[in-house]
Amino acid sequence: MPNIIQTPFAFSIKTVVDKLGSSIKKGLTEKEAQQRIQKYGKNDTTVKASKKRWKVLIDQFNDPIIFILAIAALLTYFFNDDLPDTIAIITVIFITTTIGFIMESQAIRSLETLRKIGFVKCTVLRDGKIKAIKSSFLVPGDIILTEAGDVVSADARLITADNLSIKEAALTGESIDVKKNINTLTKNTALPEQKNMVFRGTSVVQGSAKAIVVYTGRNTQLGKIQELSSEIEEQHTPLEKKLNALSKWLIGLTLIFAILIVFTGYFRGLDMLLIIETAVALAVAAIPEGLPVVATIALARGMLKLSKRQVIIKKMEAVETLGATNIICTDKTGTLTEDNMQVHTLVFEGETLNAIQNKDSAYFDYLREHQAFNIIIKTSVLCNNVILDAEEMRGDSIELALVQFAKKLNFDPKKIKKNNPESMEIPFNTTSKLMATLNQREEKGFTVYTKGAFETIIDLCDTILKDNKSLEFKNKQEWFNRVNAMASQGLRVLAFAYKDHITKPKKENLLSNLTFLGAIGFLDPAREDVKATLKTYKKAGIKVVMMTGDHLETAKKVAEEVGLLSKGASSNNSVHGQELKFEKEMDDILRKRISDALVFARVTPEQKLKLIALYQANGNVVGMFGDGINDIPALRKADIGIAMGIRGTQAAREAADIILKNDKFTTMELAISQGRAIYDHIRQFVVYLLSCNLAEVVSVGLAALLNLPAPLLPLQILFLNLVTDIFPALALGMGKGEEDIMKRPPRKANESIMTAKLWSSTIIYGLCITTAVVGITAYSYFTLQLSAASINNMAFYTLVLAQLLNVFNMAESNVSFFNNEIIKNPWIWYAIVISLLITTGAYYVTPVAKALLLTGLTAEQFGLVFIFALGSIALAQLIKRAGGTF
Ligand code: ATP
Repeated sequence: MPNIIQTPFAFSIKTVVDKLGSSIKKGLTEKEAQQRIQKYGKNDTTVKASKKRWKVLIDQFNDPIIFILAIAALLTYFFNDDLPDTIAIITVIFITTTIGFIMESQAIRSLETLRKIGFVKCTVLRDGKIKAIKSSFLVPGDIILTEAGDVVSADARLITADNLSIKEAALTGESIDVKKNINTLTKNTALPEQKNMVFRGTSVVQGSAKAIVVYTGRNTQLGKIQELSSEIEEQHTPLEKKLNALSKWLIGLTLIFAILIVFTGYFRGLDMLLIIETAVALAVAAIPEGLPVVATIALARGMLKLSKRQVIIKKMEAVETLGATNIICTDKTGTLTEDNMQVHTLVFEGETLNAIQNKDSAYFDYLREHQAFNIIIKTSVLCNNVILDAEEMRGDSIELALVQFAKKLNFDPKKIKKNNPESMEIPFNTTSKLMATLNQREEKGFTVYTKGAFETIIDLCDTILKDNKSLEFKNKQEWFNRVNAMASQGLRVLAFAYKDHITKPKKENLLSNLTFLGAIGFLDPAREDVKATLKTYKKAGIKVVMMTGDHLETAKKVAEEVGLLSKGASSNNSVHGQELKFEKEMDDILRKRISDALVFARVTPEQKLKLIALYQANGNVVGMFGDGINDIPALRKADIGIAMGIRGTQAAREAADIILKNDKFTTMELAISQGRAIYDHIRQFVVYLLSCNLAEVVSVGLAALLNLPAPLLPLQILFLNLVTDIFPALALGMGKGEEDIMKRPPRKANESIMTAKLWSSTIIYGLCITTAVVGITAYSYFTLQLSAASINNMAFYTLVLAQLLNVFNMAESNVSFFNNEIIKNPWIWYAIVISLLITTGAYYVTPVAKALLLTGLTAEQFGLVFIFALGSIALAQLIKRAGGTF
């Protein structure tokens, strides 16, 4: 088996192919490829190395709560001289870190699973056949085929390069496209100058190529760079950062509060031990330990859930943004339509043929007498990049439809291509909106064949083919009307033109003085399911805007068919790309037209980008569908870039934040509702955790101020925070989302996690619990005159129950208490049962009961605990129903 070769750019193609034991015509055999995988390994680079498990564990100790606990353990040991308490605190430290470790490991595992889903495919020649394989199975010696929109999967030496331009920014940082060729270079050519090589991770902007793989995986240039930086800094999503900041803020506040208690207690001459105990209890009470981790788990779980439903979320923060998205920009073909093109209408001077798809080939025989017809078919085949020899014909759907059409008419595309070899090509791009080739004729000479958008082609023509004669093109307006009529039926229109040359023309003269041939209208049915989705978006306050490079009338008709525009909608809702003048100061009329428009037609990728920027400048959160390489800047610019898994180019998929694996526009609806639900859940458990913590802080503080026996001891609070808080909070994150989630407007973009309403709700819920706890403490003290230990136990159990019940306050205020997302969420019930079991268990395990100072209560006392706990939720619900909370 061959060894890796050095400087492949400095050898001739034949030498490289020979050295790698491959064949240009047939590629490697499958068997050989299998063997090479063993030798060279898979074509994977070390993608972001996951955080090491030991580091996850160590990180658990690097947490303010642990510092505070450690200080508490020391204080109890030295001031109280109480070994069991100290051991108990150390046990708590152990439990906290273990829970943190398990939760973070689970989040990491979910992310790893997700990472594995997003594999890339590439086209390769094996056993003489063109195949699509996972790019991780590429080996040195493989012959790969690549075209515009692809991301190169390995480092390879070019064998053919057809108009090939590559964006190598991923590798060199250079944003200008590099034109490639196959010429052999000298040995000391620097990387950016290696024009006969293509490199992993770079994207094909234009043209197509065949190349032999020389390096794979870590041996590629990209692999080497990634290896250097494999220990990538752990990335936090903006949400995690916000939550961390919130926790830190709370910790700061608590410390100030605790210090204050110590000072006032000291000056009031209280027992120092008690003061310190209270201060420690307060500090412990206020910290929402699990917040950031619970949030990460909720986000990761949401991503995993979506991935099972065909939505791949590449960046965790996208989940957050989804909930705020209020404009979705979409293209037309393949997103709103089936992308299943069929030739429907053929028009040339003197002849209009409709509903061609229903006719058989005999119908067309008489047409062969028309030169215009014959050349249109020839153009359809020659000015076309469909790969005819692949196992399954592959290419652009409009070009596939043209080849199928030619076949149906009994033309032989392979033969036509063979007899008219191509000597030059101007590839299609969305800005020029045309494609042209120069082909040698069977007899002597050359012909330029071109097809493209009607307005572009007609501008290049000064003659028209009529009755087999080339005549001056006088009736352009008539043709405009004709094409408008075709487009108004929703047909995608391509115009055709040609020119004969005796000698080979220069590239710059290829597109001048052409002869117009005619046009073809393609039928591409609107997707049935889009209508319902658009209705849902409307209810959800999300505006959908079509941005297409296609004809205005075609765009409008398709928009009507899917229900984006109402039938006969005024022209206020549609804008032609020509109207969009971004260069100068925009007047109010244009501003208004843009903000009212639902359809933008004949727009270029640059205009799409500027429209998105304009929407964003007006405070919108924009999702954008894109599939071509030209869409990449807009995909990146949009708040959520969305690419299609099957139809989209690899480059678009790389740039996107979300990939829809099944290519369905409707799937996005799912992602948005999930995004909204996750954000709702995060808010729910933030409010839940903070209100529980607040109840603890205020209960301890108030009891101290009122000179009541301490309702809660530090260890009890810790126990509560680890049991009663974490499980229900996690369960809240597992909910399905309210049924009306897509019936309300999106979240405002700049809204923070905790709005004023959420803060006030947190305070109210917290105070309701406090009322129950302080209430029972006072009642037990003044009326029942129980012992300090019993009072403490009454308060403790009331708090446990009241906190568990508090989870039901997290449902929205406009839904029934007995029928809402939370009550229907089985996880909530599991969490409550587990929490109760653990609390009961704590009483029966003597050392734990001792550490927590649990003495047991009588049945009547438990009855009181129930009444006070129920009272707290009843009070909260009363305030909620009266509109006092969310
Ligand atoms: P959509 O929103 O429907 O996906 P688009 O924005 O992708 O459309 P383009 O692909 O940019 O539109 O096409 C713009 C115009 O270019 C089309 O209306 C058509 O006339 C022309 N066109 C499209 N594909 C080709 C092609 N392969 N060769 C030549 N012209 C083409």
